[in-house]
Amino acid sequence: MIAVVLFVVGAALGSFVTVLAHRIPRGENWVSGRSRCPNCGAQVAARDNVPIVSWVLLRGRCRSCGEPISVRYPLAELGLGALFAATYLILGTDPWWELALGLVLCVVLVAITLTDLDLRLIPNAMVGAGAVAALAILAAGDPGELPGRLLAAAIGGGVLFLVVLAYPRGMGMGDVKLVAMMGLYLGRALAPAVLIGFAAGALVGVAIIARRGAAGRKQAIPFGPFLALGGIVGLWFGEDIVEWYLDEFFPES
Ligand SMILES: [Zn+2]
Repeated sequence: MIAVVLFVVGAALGSFVTVLAHRIPRGENWVSGRSRCPNCGAQVAARDNVPIVSWVLLRGRCRSCGEPISVRYPLAELGLGALFAATYLILGTDPWWELALGLVLCVVLVAITLTDLDLRLIPNAMVGAGAVAALAILAAGDPGELPGRLLAAAIGGGVLFLVVLAYPRGMGMGDVKLVAMMGLYLGRALAPAVLIGFAAGALVGVAIIARRGAAGRKQAIPFGPFLALGGIVGLWFGEDIVEWYLDEFFPES
């Protein structure tokens, strides 16, 4: 039951996140102002603003101008709804602050994925807001967690900074800040998260080069979505992966 409620809340937030992802990088006011059709500018009526349902009922077209509405809107709504429900089912409610961290991380990672895919940039405002939210939740939930999480953020951000220095193409400072922020949410689970992100990015990179040859090699793909994917896997299973790794390789410690 709670999972269903969280799915609905996630879908509604997903709708808000697509608006944030559109407005924040463009410096628009994202607090006020009704949703508008990006094509004709018509205000979206409340009945046409129901997550997922409205898009399906309107057959993916604006009621005013009939132009197609990007499938990213229902996908982001569906995606965040599913992420919310799954995060609750996997993490449970004890302790509450870990679930709170998980849900907020899902929102931030979906927003960053959308802007990075769209504009090839990870806004400082999003990473900064994500970091502040993580610190606030940790301070309220279990301040004893703060030193370890800050250390994870510093190490993860530091390592990625060195990678960007060595290999500037394909990654940027936005990715460094994103990894540091993820460290606050994940702690030591940041390590498997980043490795999974790199592995997924490498797989897709190899697939593109295999399909397009030399032309694919020049094509820069944004790295944020892969880090976000790793972040979600790390959120759900990172602790288990770290435990397994320690048992496997350092059995007596
Ligand atoms: Zn329109």
